[in-house]
Amino acid sequence: MERPASVLKELLENSIDAGAKSIEVRLEEGGVRLIRVSDDGSGIERDDLALALTRHATSKIRTLTDLEGVVSMGFRGEALAAIASVSQFSLTSRAKGAPHAWRISAHESGGEPEPAALTSGTVAEMRELYYNTPARRKFLKSEATEFGHCSETLKRIALAHPEVAFTLFHNGRPVLKLTHGTLSERIAAILGEDFTQEARPVFVESANISLSGLTIAPAHAPLSSPNRERQYTFVNGRFVRDKVLAHAIREAYRDVLHGSRQPLLCLFLNIDPAAVDVNVHPAKTEVRFREASAVHHFVFRALERVLASPIADASAGSGYTLPSAPQSAVAYGGHEESGSTFRGSFQRPEQARLPMRDSAADAYYGFVREAHSTLPPISSEDSETAEHPLGYALAQVHGVYILAQNAAGLVLVDMHAAHERILYETLKNAFDQRAMSMQSLLVPAVFRASEREIATALAHEKILGELGFSLSQSGPEELLLRAVPALVKNGELIQLIHALLAELESHGASSLVTSHRDEILATMACHGAVRANRLLTIPEMNALLRQMEVTERSGQCNHGRPTWTALSMAELDKLFLRGK
Ligand code: ADP
Ligand code: MG
Repeated sequence: MERPASVLKELLENSIDAGAKSIEVRLEEGGVRLIRVSDDGSGIERDDLALALTRHATSKIRTLTDLEGVVSMGFRGEALAAIASVSQFSLTSRAKGAPHAWRISAHESGGEPEPAALTSGTVAEMRELYYNTPARRKFLKSEATEFGHCSETLKRIALAHPEVAFTLFHNGRPVLKLTHGTLSERIAAILGEDFTQEARPVFVESANISLSGLTIAPAHAPLSSPNRERQYTFVNGRFVRDKVLAHAIREAYRDVLHGSRQPLLCLFLNIDPAAVDVNVHPAKTEVRFREASAVHHFVFRALERVLASPIADASAGSGYTLPSAPQSAVAYGGHEESGSTFRGSFQRPEQARLPMRDSAADAYYGFVREAHSTLPPISSEDSETAEHPLGYALAQVHGVYILAQNAAGLVLVDMHAAHERILYETLKNAFDQRAMSMQSLLVPAVFRASEREIATALAHEKILGELGFSLSQSGPEELLLRAVPALVKNGELIQLIHALLAELESHGASSLVTSHRDEILATMACHGAVRANRLLTIPEMNALLRQMEVTERSGQCNHGRPTWTALSMAELDKLFLRGK
């Protein structure tokens, strides 16, 4: 037991194991002076009370299969003994049907239960942590810090158990009250309503693994801060902090998240208990997956898909209800074909991708037409009244933003950021399909370049060709650009080449370059995208909006900044105090 929070965790897990539906926690002085956990669970029989304080006296392992796949919260059978050895610990409990309660206190009654008053359930009371080892007590942090750890511990357990009500008191004051309810309600109560509204639902299931919960939409991701828990990840109902999961999450967000922001999420991974080793760490916030790379792949893919889903799909996220009871392990039946790692049965939010028709759609020009050639064709049969999530353009604001109106209210789009993302995704597709079409320049461009740039250009001639550039040396300090990828031909080409050469140089040998595909294409997209202060016509703006609706990850530019924002009529009314 390293600190009050570790004690609290064991006591809460015991209450939950005992089937409690309502748990009250009272702390004093950050839990150092007192931790009292009262539950309405099954209670403990008189004769089992003394046993409960003995090492290795667990009631939880009855068969060998239990041992292999313990789904209950703890199974070491020594938590209470350990707590009792470093504090003044007592258990008062009344088993169902018992005429009265019994109390046992390791240090007072010498291990013999005494009659006590309690209507039902169990009260576990720990007083004066480390009273007998003052040196350890000194190492405890401030009351506020220890309380913070306790409250975090309670929140983690509460997230995994929305069916249980919790109340938390500190120094006599109520600090948290969680009524039992659905998982979404519990998440909202702990992570905030904002989070549940700005998060995207996740629900992916495969033969023997599933992932569900909520994950923040990249544009709403909070700024990085080391002191706050941002990632609530659970494996089979238990909070864990795991490198494999954390890495998969980071990777999934890598392409859509601005550097200074970090994901905020609450995700439940359920996996065959035989495929995970939970006991690698005594505090059990760590796990070891037998097949770490398969788990990594599954989680990465699941999140990547959710984050990539176009605006049209994501905009309906708030009305979504989560599948409940995440802690109960999914059925690991043998009926599923084994070996399939990802079945990808997605439970997307209700709203399907909306049909598109825009009478002005033919009026694209320049960048819009090109980029569009790789996108799904626009169907002309759909009704005129079809609603576009991003609405219709009204005007361009200072050459930077598109002002549009949709059914809900007002939409603002950062034109450059949006186009940059569209271009980036289009470039990725074209590059992967080796369909990067080249466009010869009417007038080849000659420009000054440094010796290093020239050396890089010559060393990477092949990859430059694959990317769609024809670049050669035309003088000691001059490069000649004859052709560029058609997708970026309207960009600022010379700047683009300088940036691209810098990018290529930083990756060294050309064999390394392909592993930096994303960075290179992002650089191209950044300089190929329409710049601020370029005037767009209304049809061009509408075309951009339609492309955003069907482009993966179009809610963020390549640097993770949001590309659009919306204000509903209600929000607008609020700004003007209408109806108040
Ligand atoms: P473990 O939980 O690993 O079995 P513990 O030392 O935490 O070991 O608890 C020992 C035993 O005491 C449990 O197996 C359980 O039978 C009993 N027990 C502890 N707390 C409670 C509780 N709140 N309600 C009912 N039984 C409890
Ligand atoms: Mg226990």
